[in-house]
Amino acid sequence: MPKGAIIVGAGPVGLMLAGELRLGGVDVTVFEQLPAPSGESRGVGFTRRAAEVFEQRGLLARFGEVEWAQGHFGGVRIDFSQLEDNHFSVRGIPQFHTEEILGAWVDELGVDVRRSHEVLGYRESADGVVVEYQGPDGYGELAAHYLVGCDGARSLVRRLAGIDFPGWEPTRGMYMADLVGADVRRRPIGERVPGGMVMSFNLQNGVDRIVIHNESLRPPEDKSSLTFSVIADAWQEMTGEDLHDAEVRWVSSFTDTTRQAAEYRRGRVFLAGDATHIHMPAGAQGMSVGVQDAANLGWKLAADINGWAPPGLLDTFHAERHPVGQQLMRNTRAQTKLYLSGEEMEPLRAVMQELVADPGVARHLAGQVSGLDIRYDMGEGHHPRLGLRLRPDLPLKLADGSPSSVAGLLHPARGLLILTSAAPDAGRLREIAAPWASRLDVVAGDFTGEEAGRPDALHAVLVRPDGHIAWAAPDDADLTRALERWFGTA
Ligand SMILES: Cc1cc2nc3c(=O)[nH]c(=O)nc-3n(C[C@H](O)[C@H](O)[C@H](O)COP(=O)(O)OP(=O)(O)OC[C@H]3O[C@@H](n4cnc5c(N)ncnc54)[C@H](O)[C@@H]3O)c2cc1C
Repeated sequence: MPKGAIIVGAGPVGLMLAGELRLGGVDVTVFEQLPAPSGESRGVGFTRRAAEVFEQRGLLARFGEVEWAQGHFGGVRIDFSQLEDNHFSVRGIPQFHTEEILGAWVDELGVDVRRSHEVLGYRESADGVVVEYQGPDGYGELAAHYLVGCDGARSLVRRLAGIDFPGWEPTRGMYMADLVGADVRRRPIGERVPGGMVMSFNLQNGVDRIVIHNESLRPPEDKSSLTFSVIADAWQEMTGEDLHDAEVRWVSSFTDTTRQAAEYRRGRVFLAGDATHIHMPAGAQGMSVGVQDAANLGWKLAADINGWAPPGLLDTFHAERHPVGQQLMRNTRAQTKLYLSGEEMEPLRAVMQELVADPGVARHLAGQVSGLDIRYDMGEGHHPRLGLRLRPDLPLKLADGSPSSVAGLLHPARGLLILTSAAPDAGRLREIAAPWASRLDVVAGDFTGEEAGRPDALHAVLVRPDGHIAWAAPDDADLTRALERWFGTA
């Protein structure tokens, strides 16, 4: 009988998913072809919702003091201080550091991460999958209930599953280089210069990242042929600064190729992260959306493997996350046009800058990038916050007087029913939820701070393990039906 789940890829998404599955009590094996983390850093931060997902599992604190940054949409700066929700993202965290933190977390949880193991293929049977791999000891096979491809943009799992990856071919590209001790002048959010755009910022102590878009340069098909001298030439031509002698740690290039997997699930095979969506990096979204894919999928797969998933639960992964990926592709393509087009885009940029002074416009654009506008279909129910995320940093005073927070209550990745003192007939609600005690924590307590005074305050709220509101009072929907829909029969 197959056991647990197999994940291909120990990038940030595979690691996040592995942790989520372990919290759900599932055996997880992660196959990673690289012998050790690459130490490269594509990403330099993450969005607000990704920060919240980390906070829900107690991981945000592991990053220490972080720098919160305002955002932009295609280079059009947005003043987040005018918004009632907190859209600030985390900046200045190299992706390898995020991966280190996730790696340490999954180690503590007992995930079996097998490095130097390249997955070669798989076959599916009625009750599971068998994965074929090549490891340090040669060829091997391992069986599991489910296989998840978190194996990046060129995903083998996606190709073997026969899942289409339609989208748009590249139209333009960018180069980047990480330089040690070069002390490059700061040029945050792309500075437009004749012939393109330049940007530079501090990546880590003593390491600067420079990024350029030059209208006459196209990144090579084969990145290994890329040399720093091409980048240094273009930088000098565009800024007048000579960086040719700088110590180079890493050079890379990327394009605006945009693609999305047509299906996030086929049978016993799932895809998450870059295996499902690729796009121009804009707004620190790629890994951030992938981490949220993982948080969405983990508890659902665990529910199925543990035998209590309600019918259709696993299909809600595609139903909920595919539209998020579509929105991601749309907003990054729009941002790329705004950001990287030449002089002819100037009037539109100016109009956009005027528009974002309107809080409604700012909220709309900021919410798309931060991930705070994601709302899932929870079926019946009328509460205005149904399907949105419950802010994890909301403080609570528990019935015994002790302080807590939504995030603190979500650490175990279980369902959560919060009954406040304003809840209509809290005793009856508690009784209704009692049969789901093995999948759900019921907590009595009151929200404190701003939440308490909101016109749409929550008197009682059912939260899924991924932090989204599945039922809320005051409302006329049936708690039992919501429990059955997300947590199976009692
Ligand atoms: C320039 C740039 C800047 C970016 N900045 C940000 C940012 O600031 N914030 C943000 O959120 N995102 C950012 N991104 C996007 C982010 O880097 C990716 O979205 C993220 O790495 C995706 O993670 P993943 O785990 O899905 O895939 P990956 O990180 O690609 O990991 C996939 C893993 O699978 C392994 N693998 C592949 N095939 C096999 C196989 N057959 N067998 C075993 N192992 C296999 C690979 O070795 C790899 O370790 C940026 C991207 C670029 C290019």
